[in-house]
Amino acid sequence: MRGEPQPTPKFRTDEDLARLAPSERIRYRLADANCRYHANDNIAAHIADGELGELQAEVETKMQEVLRSLVIDTESDHNTNDTAKRVAKMFLTEVFRGRYVHMPSVTEFPNIERLNELMIVGLVKVRSACSHHLCPILGKVWVGVLPNVQSNLIGLSKYARIVEWIMSRPQIQEEAVTMLANELERRVKPDGLAIVMEADHFCMHWRGVKDDESMMTNSVMRGEFLSNPSLRSEFMSLLNRKL
Ligand SMILES: [Zn+2]
Repeated sequence: MRGEPQPTPKFRTDEDLARLAPSERIRYRLADANCRYHANDNIAAHIADGELGELQAEVETKMQEVLRSLVIDTESDHNTNDTAKRVAKMFLTEVFRGRYVHMPSVTEFPNIERLNELMIVGLVKVRSACSHHLCPILGKVWVGVLPNVQSNLIGLSKYARIVEWIMSRPQIQEEAVTMLANELERRVKPDGLAIVMEADHFCMHWRGVKDDESMMTNSVMRGEFLSNPSLRSEFMSLLNRKL
C-alpha cells in the first residue's frame, strides 16, 4: 500500500547473498529460519562450507578498527601488528568455537550391562568466557548420571567434548549448566542427572571490583536427583571427596 513502509523482501537470490558480508549472510539465514543467535547459541547449521574462513577475515578487519579506535598504532607497534588477526582466530577457532561448529560426534551405546548405579564424571575442566565482558571463566564441572536400562551410555571422554562444545561460547554460568544438562539428558536419557559447576570469573579479578567473590558454584538436578534426597546426598558426598 502506498505510504506504508514495505517490509524488506524475505527472499534473496544467491547472487544477492554472495554480495553481502559473511556475517550479514549468516544473519539473513538465521532470521529467515527464525533462529535465535544469542552469544551462547550454536549457529553451525546456518554457516555454509568455507564461510567460517570468510567470517574470520571479517572479524579481523573489524578488530583492526577496534584497535584503531583505541588509538593504538598497530603499524609501528610490533607487538600489536598482528593482534587483530590473532584475536579473530582465537575467537572463531578456539574460545568461541562452540558457536560455530557442529556438536562433536558422540557414539551412544545401549545399556547392555543394565547399569543402574550412580556414575560420576569429573572433574572436567571448563574454559569459557562471560557474555558480559568477554573475560575468561575457568573452572570445573562434575556430572552425576543415574542410568536406567533404556539409557544410552556415552564414553567418559565424550562428556568432556560435550562440555567443551557448550562452554566455548560467551556464557552465563547458570545458563551454561542448564544447556549442558539439556544436551546430556537428551542424549543419555537417564533417570537422574546432576551437574555441579565451580568457576572463577576473571572479570572480577581483572576489573578489580570484588576480587573475593570471583568464585561461583551452581548446580542443576534433574529426575531422581530431585525426588530422592539420599541419591542427591550420595552424589554430593562423593563430590566433596573429589573437590
Ligand atoms: Zn563478566
